[in-house]
Formats: sequence, structure tokens, C-alpha cells
Amino acid sequence: MTALLVTGGAGYIGSHMVNLLVSEGHQVTVFDNLTTGHRDAVTRTGFIEGDLQRLADVTRAFDGRKIDVVMHFAASCYVGESVHHPAKYYANNVIGTLNLLEGMRESEVRRLVFSSTCSTYGDPVSLPMNEDHPQQPVNPYGMSKLTAERAMADYGRAYGLSTVALRYFNAAGCDPDGELGERHDPETHLIPLILREALRVRVGGNPADTVLQVFGDDFDTPDGSCVRDYVHVEDLCAAHLLAMERLMAGKVAGFEAFNLGTGNGYSVKEVIETCTRVTGQDIQYRMAGRRAGDPARLVASAARARAELGWVPRFEELEGIVETAWRWFQQRG
Ligand code: UDP
Repeated sequence: MTALLVTGGAGYIGSHMVNLLVSEGHQVTVFDNLTTGHRDAVTRTGFIEGDLQRLADVTRAFDGRKIDVVMHFAASCYVGESVHHPAKYYANNVIGTLNLLEGMRESEVRRLVFSSTCSTYGDPVSLPMNEDHPQQPVNPYGMSKLTAERAMADYGRAYGLSTVALRYFNAAGCDPDGELGERHDPETHLIPLILREALRVRVGGNPADTVLQVFGDDFDTPDGSCVRDYVHVEDLCAAHLLAMERLMAGKVAGFEAFNLGTGNGYSVKEVIETCTRVTGQDIQYRMAGRRAGDPARLVASAARARAELGWVPRFEELEGIVETAWRWFQQRG
């Protein structure tokens, strides 16, 4: 049994992770400030309401607790918002992470699994992108996560911290049992917005009154809309478990990074077509201008995660991912 502190454990990916950890028999304490997380998503573990931006809260979380591994999900994660409100991203993602690293250093906790992102790479110079791709973020979100990565690598060299950074491509889908889902407020992510539109039409809304927007059709992609690599939240969680085991086995010296994606790219328009097929609804959209900070294509090579972590995603195709999300959406609306 491993004892974990999970920051952001009340959020979308964190709450899925906590369920997996608990079902595997691990001991979990969740640390979350509930600004975007949901208290009702944390039912089976200890819970600390605290803010990573307050060092005292972080110190309190470690005090008197034996923690083997920290999983750090808590972050602000909207590309578009980060362009217009970078202060929030540097405060939450950089200062918050630095406080967490200090809390770990003070209490001699030396194993960390970090939720990083393909946004640390910026515009692709080669596709699919592997971990050696240059890291030149094109938005403050990506820069804040890259800065956090760099701090972890430096803490590794100086203080013996071992970190596995998992660079997610586009997290999507919901718990296949339909218990947990993706609930952001306001929602900005593509698949939940499309499914919300499908629900609106299903209950009698006029498809022509759609509020769904496609941000840009003049990108250098086959149909002009952005291409992304969607990876199921349960597959992300499975990779975290493997990363934790690798840390516990003492196989991580310093900082390691792994991409998590399926290697399959889908354009925004293809995602809408897939959602139309899965939901059976007439989903229409309006064309809108590009969203600030969006690279044209992001597609992963996850060869390193497959080879070194032994990670095999269960959901390789978008259709299966959307099916799990649609199941949850129909239950929860
Ligand atoms: N997108 C869109 N309309 C929306 C929301 C997103 O066209 O209402 C596009 C967005 O520009 C990006 C892709 O869908 O190319 C995925 O965006 P999302 O916000 O889901 O994830 P991100 O790539 O920002 O992590």
C-alpha cells in the first residue's frame, strides 16, 4: 500500500485517479481548493481544503502525515484563458507548484507524479511529437507548466526529488461506469461542449440555434480545423499508477517525462462528426475565428510511455472515448 497526497483530487482527472488508487488499495489524502473541483467527487478518502498558493496550507497538508508519493493535478488548464489572464496561470501553476515542492522538501517527500501537458512543446516542428521535441510554448498555460517542469528537474539535481512528468495531450471521456464525469464551469473543452449541444437538440432544441463554435478553419490541416490527440481519462490514470510504481521501485533518478496520447489525430470537425454518430443527434456549429494560443496540430508519440512504463491505452479510437462521455452526460445533463 502506498500513501499519497493528491492535489486537485476533486477535479476532473484527479477524481478519476483517486477512485483508481482507492480501488487498488492505496491510502489517499486529497488536497483541493474547490475553485474548480467538486467536493462531492471525493467520498472515499481524507480531504484537506487548502490552496497551494498559501504555503501554510501546504505545510499543514504534510504535517504529521506519512506520504510516499505526491500526485500533482491541481492547476488552471485553459489555453485561451491563459492568454488573456496570464497572472492567474503563473500564480496557480508556478507559485502553487513551487510551494508544493517546498512542502515536499521540508517534509522529505521525494517522489512526484506531475500532470504536465503537450502545451509545453508549442508549435510542432515534427509530428508525431516525442519527448525530445523542443519545448517552446506558445501560450502562458504551456509556459507555466514548463516552468514547473524545470523547477522539478532542478529540485531533482539539488535535493534528490524524483519526478515523473506526464505530458497529456487532450484528456477526454468519462468513467465508463458513469459515476464521474467532466464538469467544468464555465465549460470550454470541445467534447463536453459538443455533447451539451447534442443534449439540447435531443430535448427538442432547434439544431439551427446552435451555440457550438469551431475556432478556425484556416489552419494548415486537411479540413482547416485544429487537429488534436484525444486520450481517455482512465488511460491517463493507468499511466499515473505505472509512474507511481516506477517511483516506488526506485527506478526514477531525477526528472523523467512521458507523453500520453494515442497517436491518432482528429480535427475539430471530425470530433463533431464522431459525436453526431455516437449521439444520433443533428449537431450543427458556427464557424468562428481562431482561439488565441492554439497550435494547428498536436499529436503524440507515446512510444516511450509504452516501452518504459508498459502503458497500453485501452481507448485508441475517439468513438469509444465519446461513448463514455455521452453516457455520463445523459445521466447528469
Ligand atoms: N475548440 C473549438 N470550439 C470550442 C472549444 C474548442 O473549436 O468551443 C477547439 C480548440 O480551438 C482546439 C480543440 O477544439 O483546437 C480542443 O480544444 P479544448 O479546449 O477541448 O482543449 P485544448 O486543446 O485547449 O487543451
